[in-house]
Amino acid sequence: MVRVFIDAGHGGKDPGAIGNGMREKDITLLVAKKLGAILERHNVNVSYSRIMDKYVSLNERARMANNIKADIFVSIHTNSYKYQSVQGLETFSYPGSSKGRKLAKYIQDSIIETKLYTKDRGIKTANFAVLRQSKMPATLVELGFITNKQDSQLLRTRQNNFSEAIAKGILKYLEVKYIPVKEKLEGNKYFRVVAGSYKDRSLAEEQQLRLKEKGFDSFIDIYEDKQSLIL
Ligand SMILES: [Zn+2]
Repeated sequence: MVRVFIDAGHGGKDPGAIGNGMREKDITLLVAKKLGAILERHNVNVSYSRIMDKYVSLNERARMANNIKADIFVSIHTNSYKYQSVQGLETFSYPGSSKGRKLAKYIQDSIIETKLYTKDRGIKTANFAVLRQSKMPATLVELGFITNKQDSQLLRTRQNNFSEAIAKGILKYLEVKYIPVKEKLEGNKYFRVVAGSYKDRSLAEEQQLRLKEKGFDSFIDIYEDKQSLIL
C-alpha cells in the first residue's frame, strides 16, 4: 500500500509564523490531520511527523519519513512577510527533483482550482532541510500568508477546502481516483460499533485519529438521529 508522510510544520516551542491572532503551528496541524483523514478514506497509508502540539526537529521529520520508507513527503506551512500586503499561495520542491516538482505542481494547481486564492505565486524550488533530507519525492506547500488579512481569513475558515485540495493533488500524483464524501447511506443495514457522534466532521476525524493511535481502524459514516427529533 502506498504511504504518504504528512509533515505539519513547526509545533511546541516553535510556533512558526504569527499574524492576525493566529499561529502557524496550529493551522498546519489542523490541515495535516484533515488531509490525513481524506487520504485514509482512499486507502492510502498515512504517517505524521506530529499529531499534537509538540516540537520536532527538521532532521527528525526527514528521518521519520525515511525510516518508514514513505513514498512521498508533504510538508504543510503558512507563509509570512514583513509587508502585510503580500499574499498568495506557493509550493516548493527540491532543486533537480522532477518527481517533487510534479507533486508540487499537482498540489498547487489543485488549490488554485478551488478559486480560494486570487494570487497564484506558482511552484518554486528551495533548499529546505526537509526537502533535501527526505529521500522520497517531497514538497512543501505554503498555504498563504498569515500576515495578510485576506489570506489569514482563509487559513482560519477554509481548512477543509485546503486539506481537500491538497488531498486531490496528492491522489492525482498517486494515480488514485478522488472519491467525494458520500453524504447518504442507503441499502443494507449493518451493526456498527460506535465510539462517538459529532455534529462537526472535524471532531469525528479527531476521534478517528485517537482510535488509530490506540491501534483501531475506523471509518466515519453519516446518519440522521430521527429519535431525538421525536423527543
Ligand atoms: Zn513554516
